[in-house]
Amino acid sequence: MSEALLSVSNLTKAFPIRSGLLQRQTGSVHAVDGVDFHVEAGETLGLVGESGCGKSTTGRCVLRLIEPTSGDIRFDGKDVRALDGGGLRALRRDIQIIFQDPYASLNPRMSVGAIIGEALIIHRLANSRRQFDDRVVELLETVGLQADHASRYPHEFSGGQRQRIGIARALAVEPKLIICDEPVSALDVSIQAQVINLLEDLQQKFGLAFLFIAHDLSVVEHISRRVAVMYLGRIVETAKSRDLYASPKHPYTEALLSAVPIPDPKVRRRRIRLGGEVPSPIAPPSGCHFHTRCPIAQGICSQEAPKLKQTAKGHWVACHFR
Ligand code: SF4
Repeated sequence: MSEALLSVSNLTKAFPIRSGLLQRQTGSVHAVDGVDFHVEAGETLGLVGESGCGKSTTGRCVLRLIEPTSGDIRFDGKDVRALDGGGLRALRRDIQIIFQDPYASLNPRMSVGAIIGEALIIHRLANSRRQFDDRVVELLETVGLQADHASRYPHEFSGGQRQRIGIARALAVEPKLIICDEPVSALDVSIQAQVINLLEDLQQKFGLAFLFIAHDLSVVEHISRRVAVMYLGRIVETAKSRDLYASPKHPYTEALLSAVPIPDPKVRRRRIRLGGEVPSPIAPPSGCHFHTRCPIAQGICSQEAPKLKQTAKGHWVACHFR
């Protein structure tokens, strides 16, 4: 295994809940609860789970857009949590983020050229107006847009085009890793495929690594070399993409996968419907967080949290019975 570009160990993030006149802390939301994963240079790790499971918070902690509560984050040999000032600026050049809502993440009052070029100015990557303009055009063309789009405004573009603008903005600083935070969830299915194909092409061309966050396993299947499944702040299963889809081990992954349609009409998967709602991260269930919905739960499950253990090469599962 090559050395990881990004490695995250025992990451936690608890948001305080405050109430009353004095805003005393009365509890915590345990959004991320001891997460470990790594991303190698040039690979895609898919991070999947239902809404509210902590996957976006995890992505934001890596970039220090949210300060982690505890844990270790290493990027390219650097201790991310120890960075400040110039070190943090350099990190945010090496790691970029693409957001779910391509419209909300683009300033409607700035032209597309100014949006894409903003980082060139911040990081002093253009020495002249000519160089700036040339680079903006190059970036537009790299993501399948045209030079004359630079003078237009975000509202003049479709959702898919706006996401391409967001991708061009991320590429401007030549990052090593892009955190793709549900980048296609707001798009039509046909446009989703186009944006995913574009990301794959860009990965090949520039050797980019992606942390690809999604709530739907079908979205990450083709783009991810490995997939990590999260439930209520914890990673419950991680494996190479083909192994996870062919032979899921954790009951939660099985349930998620059973809802993914298979294109071959001769192949049928038994649909597993999970009972109940995802519990609140304010008071997560004891032991295995999944025990309140798990179809095979037993007594030990509510008492002891299962650790991730390797059941086959590169296939890790957190379940007492798998
Ligand atoms: Fe289900 Fe128990 Fe395994 Fe958790 S540890 S997934 S509750 S069987």
